[in-house]
Amino acid sequence: MIVQLHLDSPPAVELTPEESTLIKKLEGLQCRVTPVTTQRTRYLVLDTPKDLDIRKIGHLEGVRDVHRVTAPYKLVSREWRVAPSSVDLGDGVSFEEGALTLAAGPCSIEDEDQIDQVIEHLQSVGVSLMRGGVYKPRTSPYSFRGVGLEGLRMWHEKAQAAGIKIITEVLATEQIEALHDYVDMFQVGARNAQNFTLLAELGKVDKPVLLKRGMSTTLDEFLHAAEYVFSSGNEKLVLCERGIRTFERAYRNTLDINAVPALKERTHLPVIVDPSHAIGVRRWVPAVALAAVAAGCDGLILEVAPVPERAFSDGQQTLNFEESKRLIEKIRKLREVIEP
Ligand code: PEP
Ligand code: MN
Repeated sequence: MIVQLHLDSPPAVELTPEESTLIKKLEGLQCRVTPVTTQRTRYLVLDTPKDLDIRKIGHLEGVRDVHRVTAPYKLVSREWRVAPSSVDLGDGVSFEEGALTLAAGPCSIEDEDQIDQVIEHLQSVGVSLMRGGVYKPRTSPYSFRGVGLEGLRMWHEKAQAAGIKIITEVLATEQIEALHDYVDMFQVGARNAQNFTLLAELGKVDKPVLLKRGMSTTLDEFLHAAEYVFSSGNEKLVLCERGIRTFERAYRNTLDINAVPALKERTHLPVIVDPSHAIGVRRWVPAVALAAVAAGCDGLILEVAPVPERAFSDGQQTLNFEESKRLIEKIRKLREVIEP
């Protein structure tokens, strides 16, 4: 159950005496109470006895509203927040239902010239969010592992001047502070999808988070991971299906297209798709990108680089500018058909 409180916003860091009294009363009704303070407000998440009469809570002093949520994850559940959430990155860039927000860019940020070229391409196709890793989670420690903070600072300066927002992956809690001022959205990669320490720390930051599905996480586990971020304080959360590992070896991963409608029914959070990592084969990326749009995703994140053949990482699944432009045109046409 979720209890919404009568609050002066923003909530005080410490519980007020009135809130503590309310919690005592709820505990008296055999409820286990977890207070959750987000950047927006404070909630009480309750684990209640099965037969508890909800009306006993509704009239308690300080309670504005009470919702029964049967799903094991609570605050990300659509049972509670029925309307879809939007996640605002500022300057008119946001993720919201029906908006089909696109993010594109290289797998790894490499150098100044690459950044300039990608920014110019994004501007020419009307995309305002650039992806790129500066810390790369690589299978082999001998592979290119990213240009690090120095590269991010240069990228940030150029992106800001061009009115482009930045999304980059954070690999560890120790990186959050250093990255913070240079990113518009933190990405949690598939390999960290259940790094609960990292997820909880990202709950404390005031920047949006893109949470990718782990390669072997169920939707239930995925939503619980999202609940970690939300319940640690950050409501600005977007989910990304990026393919799961199956027995099939003909492509990198298997895009679980089913996840799009299934997640959207379960959660109010925006749901986007990464077709590049999902299929891992450049010439097939457009097919699955369009399938994801048809399935009703709220956005896509694409790997795009000036010369994919020379990319430091994931070139085999990266589109060049011409391919990117053609795909984006098709995506927009398809969207018009689906949502006239
Ligand atoms: C990436 O976006 O570059 C990436 C590493 O993705 P994933 O975590 O989905 O593998
Ligand atoms: Mn990649």
